[in-house]
Amino acid sequence: MSISSFHPPQRTLMGPGPSDVSDRVLQAMARPTVGHLDPSFIGMMDETKQLLQYVFQTKNELTFAVSAPGSAGMECCFANLIEPGDKVIVCQNGVFGGRMKENVERCGGVAVMVQDDWGKAVDASKLEDALKANPDACIVAFVHAETSTGAQSDAKTLVNLGHQYDCLVIVDAVTSLVGTPLLVDEWGIDAIYSGSQKCLSSSPGLSPVSFSQRAADKIKARTTKVQSWFLDLNLVMGYWSGDGKRAYHHTAPVNCLYGLHEALVIVQEEGLENAWARHHANHLLLRNGLEAMGINFIVAEQDRLPQLNAVTIPEGVNDADVRSRLLTEHDLEIGAGLGALAGNVWRIGLMGHASSQKNVDFCLHSLRAVLG
Ligand SMILES: *Cc1c(COP(=O)(O)O)cnc(C)c1O
Repeated sequence: MSISSFHPPQRTLMGPGPSDVSDRVLQAMARPTVGHLDPSFIGMMDETKQLLQYVFQTKNELTFAVSAPGSAGMECCFANLIEPGDKVIVCQNGVFGGRMKENVERCGGVAVMVQDDWGKAVDASKLEDALKANPDACIVAFVHAETSTGAQSDAKTLVNLGHQYDCLVIVDAVTSLVGTPLLVDEWGIDAIYSGSQKCLSSSPGLSPVSFSQRAADKIKARTTKVQSWFLDLNLVMGYWSGDGKRAYHHTAPVNCLYGLHEALVIVQEEGLENAWARHHANHLLLRNGLEAMGINFIVAEQDRLPQLNAVTIPEGVNDADVRSRLLTEHDLEIGAGLGALAGNVWRIGLMGHASSQKNVDFCLHSLRAVLG
């Protein structure tokens, strides 16, 4: 055998994630590994928590990064908050709402589905109807930024509705965090999860989460054990906030956390509001260029996500062929359609470090070259 070191190609990542990771973050990840209970590392974890509170715009004590990708953050929220028999209203308008249903059922909960068309925002009046029809529901869950369709829902209104009917509200912010306005405390979100590899532009593998006091109280008052040992917050918190007596729970992905820390420092330097504005401005540039080529968006203008642009594949164009040529001839990755939209749309990401005028120009230029 003579397998040698792996050297990945240098791509530009403009799909649904992972997004481009900056040199600063890559260099941070290449620094020496220390023990995960080393005092220096613990100091860095405390800073990471403060920076996560900043990007989530929350004072929640229970804020940290789950040592696994966004799907594990999702699972962490559902597994901790749902007890067998709990009724949960899930709003679905794309792929990820379907995963929420899976989570509810695997936790022994009963899912009540509120369906909206793919590409549309969640309809608040349908949620209200479901809340009225199910007075015993105790949790509402929805996806803020549906990466499968590029639609954004009005999180503030949906959270408010959930609270009016005495429900806790779980929000998927995997793609929204840092890319679009998100105010956890002001909107009163009870449990939220995100991912390191979308608009944070760190490497995949970590899931920032945050829980309100009301959510923490429900978790403490559980009469059944959380079915997942790894994700049981009662145990994990002993590790993330042990107040000096931090206990071993699992070995943290040390270098991955260096990367997240650096990515958060970069967001802090730019300023969260400036990051939101940059995502919006680059989305408009891309939109103008695509529309000039006759390529149209599938989501109505007021519900579009700036960081995930889902567009209709022009008539007569071979989806797989174009994406493959973009990759091999231009080192550019864009996303294919997912689920019901597979084969019909492209998903062009402008997430985090990849949301730049340079990337917009490069993407438009490459698409023009391949489409001829
Ligand atoms: C990417 C994504 C997830 C899953 O995150 P992974 O890191 O791939 O596990 C969940 N929800 C949404 C909306 C996403 O975009």
